[in-house]
Amino acid sequence: MPVNITATNSNNSNTLTQITEDDQPPGYLKTDFNNLPISDTINDFRKKFFPDITLSNWNDWRWQIKNRLSTAEEFQKIISLSDDEKLAFAQNKGIPIAVTPYYLALIYNSQSSLRRCMLPSMAEFYQAPGEKEDPLSEENHSPIHGLVHRYNDRALFMATDFCSCYCRYCTRSRLVGGGRKSAQAKALKMRWELAINWIAEHPEIKDVILSGGDPLTLTDSQIEFLLERIRTIKHVEIIRIGTKMPVVLPQRITKPLLKILKKFHPLFVSIHFTHPDELTLENKITCERLADAGIPLGSQTVLLNGINNNLETLSSLMTGLLKHRVRPYYIYQCDPIIGSAHFRTNVKHSVELIGSLQGNISGYAVPNYVVDTPGGGGKISLLPNRIVSIDENGLCLQNYEHSKFYYPEFE
Ligand code: SF4
Repeated sequence: MPVNITATNSNNSNTLTQITEDDQPPGYLKTDFNNLPISDTINDFRKKFFPDITLSNWNDWRWQIKNRLSTAEEFQKIISLSDDEKLAFAQNKGIPIAVTPYYLALIYNSQSSLRRCMLPSMAEFYQAPGEKEDPLSEENHSPIHGLVHRYNDRALFMATDFCSCYCRYCTRSRLVGGGRKSAQAKALKMRWELAINWIAEHPEIKDVILSGGDPLTLTDSQIEFLLERIRTIKHVEIIRIGTKMPVVLPQRITKPLLKILKKFHPLFVSIHFTHPDELTLENKITCERLADAGIPLGSQTVLLNGINNNLETLSSLMTGLLKHRVRPYYIYQCDPIIGSAHFRTNVKHSVELIGSLQGNISGYAVPNYVVDTPGGGGKISLLPNRIVSIDENGLCLQNYEHSKFYYPEFE
């Protein structure tokens, strides 16, 4: 029976339930204990929909992954699916579906705009002009499988195809969703060896971005193995990790993981955020722990129609990120994957939106707005044109309020 939800989903509760080591179930490894508190709204969700699950299990990232929801039947025990969502589930387009119980607690309300990022809709079945399976032409820029070399000094290393939650607008929806069975893990290791050897043979590579899928879904020993091997390559100066885990599964950022990450500085982490509803206390504590481990944190956000493409939502997200010690880094124009038209925004309007951010919030909170050009041309940063003209008064500039000012520069 579908459960009708009437409560509003406010994730801004400022009270927390502290989990103690006494809450650990028998047989639980002490090293797994990450002491991440649970905010009251999320705890209420846990008690209502997962009443038999202890706080310790809830706080265990492997329990969260094992208990991801992926079928219409599983979701319907918690949320009422719309007719459109039910149809889309039944048609099964092929983009994998998975949501961790933690993240479902943030999006389960029917009013949550984030729900559209995770649950399928029939709009995905419409292919608009210009949409492609691999719009950025990553396959053509892959000297070997799982590694993209688009810029001279950087390499994007797709360490896994697995994510804990799958976004409906994912650029790599053609690839993500692989299983984690041991046979595949073996194939993964072979893939890693080839990628690591390729990087070692290319001294121009200074910056390696570990991406996926989500690399923080790998086990601690796999992450350590990868970082160790990449760090031993003399010409690699910095390593970056691209992840959504602090947002969809903050329980993953355990003490043992932090201990590993700390060994491989300079290491940067880019976190995929979409909406201020994701700025929970769990996320805040997780980001603080990463920052305290000396890791500079940046955000990446995809601009999504009806989800975050308005001044209020973006301002709240970007300023909220600074409070979580994350520097807003990129806002991406949504890539034209097949079935993405309902997510994509108008580029000209988006430039204006980013221009409005500039005057309204701290400069530190304003990210770069970029279009990753179809065909593999790389990222192009777009800004509103503030130069109006040059005349006898000088260079005429227009500020964010559309007022004009002159700078004394003459032709
Ligand atoms: S977390 Fe990243 S890689 Fe995974 S589905 Fe979302 S956008 Fe794609």
